[in-house]
Amino acid sequence: MTQRANVDLSPLTSFGVAATARELFTLTTLAELPELVRWLDGRSPLILGGGTNLLFTCNPHEPVIQVALRGRAREGTRVWAAAGEPWHPLVQWTLAQGLQGLENLALIPGTVGAAPIQNIGAYGVELVDVFERLRAYDLAGQRWVELDRAACGFGYRESIFKDPQHRSLLITDVHFNLQPIGSAICRTDYGGVRAEITRQRALTTGDSRPPEWASVSPQEVARAVIAIRQQRLPDPAQLGNAGSFFRNPIVALEVADALRERYPALPVYDGPALPDGRPGRKLAAAWLIEHAGWKGVRRGDAGVHAEHALVLVNHGKASGLSIAQLASEIQADIDRKFAVRLEIEPRIVS
Ligand code: NAP
Repeated sequence: MTQRANVDLSPLTSFGVAATARELFTLTTLAELPELVRWLDGRSPLILGGGTNLLFTCNPHEPVIQVALRGRAREGTRVWAAAGEPWHPLVQWTLAQGLQGLENLALIPGTVGAAPIQNIGAYGVELVDVFERLRAYDLAGQRWVELDRAACGFGYRESIFKDPQHRSLLITDVHFNLQPIGSAICRTDYGGVRAEITRQRALTTGDSRPPEWASVSPQEVARAVIAIRQQRLPDPAQLGNAGSFFRNPIVALEVADALRERYPALPVYDGPALPDGRPGRKLAAAWLIEHAGWKGVRRGDAGVHAEHALVLVNHGKASGLSIAQLASEIQADIDRKFAVRLEIEPRIVS
């Protein structure tokens, strides 16, 4: 059954907050597109992938489309995957196929179709680094579009798909350009990746010295990333969450310097350019939130994760509104204490 009424959306999102879709269409094959267009009858939909970057603060007003298209294939170093494929199994499959490029993005929750929307990134690699093109069906214009890297407007956790005027684009499949395993040096110089690889190698070889980094395999990187993520990030199946709730702020050099002077321990990295083209610095949002005293704070069932201050969690029966209110409190406090504006990463449905 592809169309249902009054559907409980809580199991379809990683936050698990209560919300009901008046109407939901599950798209499982491209052949159903004409039926979907008729069902929409000109209305704008809310398109749901894995529901891992979304917070409902009320029931959606729009008809909801759940993208459940499946399939994947490779031709040489090129890989194609349908939008409804879960992301992490795709990473594992490409490694098993002898292809590298996705290993730093292991264990990110969500689907392939959601990955371009926020240009998912982790441990020094972003989707844009391996992205070739995608296909989308424009539900408003009722036509196919094919978008290459430039057309997607990728930025730091950004793409054109976040703009309201592109919300009628239903991504159906994503194409990647990967490399044969062994043909490129893996990216290991990020976060705790090297320390974890050294630890895991010591367990198997008994040698606790750091390895030659150029010799590290993508499978080792994936194992390290998986281990770090499992230690630090809550499993949405156990504790509702949408990963990082706030983006790392990108600020002007003088702002970063002034903050560093007051808080020498604040992590500051080279960042993408500011909207006006000036060079930017990236601040670790988790550090700001933790040092403002929010780590582990609870407001009823809405909370800040005890292990990672960037992750807001649903301890059980939190409403989306209570989580959004907690986020607003944190934003106001960070603004007051550090004069830095924290931006929310997930899409808030209000
Ligand atoms: P972490 O290693 O504790 O580092 C904190 C922040 O510092 C990260 O957000 C990262 O920025 C930045 N950072 C660390 N090393 C860096 C380097 N060498 N150069 C530039 N920036 C550096 O971070 P974490 O929170 O445990 O997350 C680890 C990775 O997984 C990060 O890349 C993070 O973005 C990603 N992640 C993403 C989500 C999500 O929902 N989007 C959730 C969890 C983790 P970046 O965020 O720019 O990488």
